[in-house]
Amino acid sequence: ADQNNGSDKPTLKVVTEAGFMPFTYLDKGEVVGFDIDLLAAVMEEAGYNYELENVGWDAMLLSVEQGDADLAIAGVTVNEERKQSYDFSSPYFESTHKIIFRSGENITSGQDIKDLKVGVQSGTTGAEAVEKILGKNADNISKYDSNTLALTSLQSGDVDAVVTDNVVADEYVANNPEADVEMISDPDTFESEYYGIMFPKGSDIKEDIDAALQTLIENGTYAEIYKEWFGV
Ligand code: GLN
Repeated sequence: ADQNNGSDKPTLKVVTEAGFMPFTYLDKGEVVGFDIDLLAAVMEEAGYNYELENVGWDAMLLSVEQGDADLAIAGVTVNEERKQSYDFSSPYFESTHKIIFRSGENITSGQDIKDLKVGVQSGTTGAEAVEKILGKNADNISKYDSNTLALTSLQSGDVDAVVTDNVVADEYVANNPEADVEMISDPDTFESEYYGIMFPKGSDIKEDIDAALQTLIENGTYAEIYKEWFGV
């Protein structure tokens, strides 16, 4: 998914974690998704060439923090803690969390997962949300390196429930009719949060990217990409 916009600006190194469908995921070996289309549009608007690499969640965070990558996009939630170590673009997507659980469990609110085995992707806001309910070092939290692994464990019965971002949960349930699962949202338990493009602290491209993002929102390009992926 590299892109050459023929500009004389530097080629940016972009990293992602392609295990977060529909935002960033692999399709026949290619990284695709809402975030990836948005990235392409932003880069074109801002006039940067870029190289995109799928490195996984932990490596993604590390390479941005160390300045090895110029930016990351992967449904990354902007929060106060991360703002200590990274800069972020203005928000481009609102999100919250949902619980996906094996059919038959009696789960009607976030608090109902307290005594269940709950799978999360480690280092995510979903993991934090679950720690708030179950306790920080609760031994009924299973942490996985990727969201995909957490969901696989739900399917295999290693965990009873998974907490993940709402749109990712919706996508998973829609795409896996054979998985015997249900899901709920609970706005009393799960706050809303916003995704941003993540930069190394002090990045000098943040302003360009924000300006491009703003233009895409104003000229309808953002809405077009949104419609392509979410149908509305
Ligand atoms: N939005 C969540 C977070 O930032 C999960 C992102 C992801 O798994 N790619 O923690």
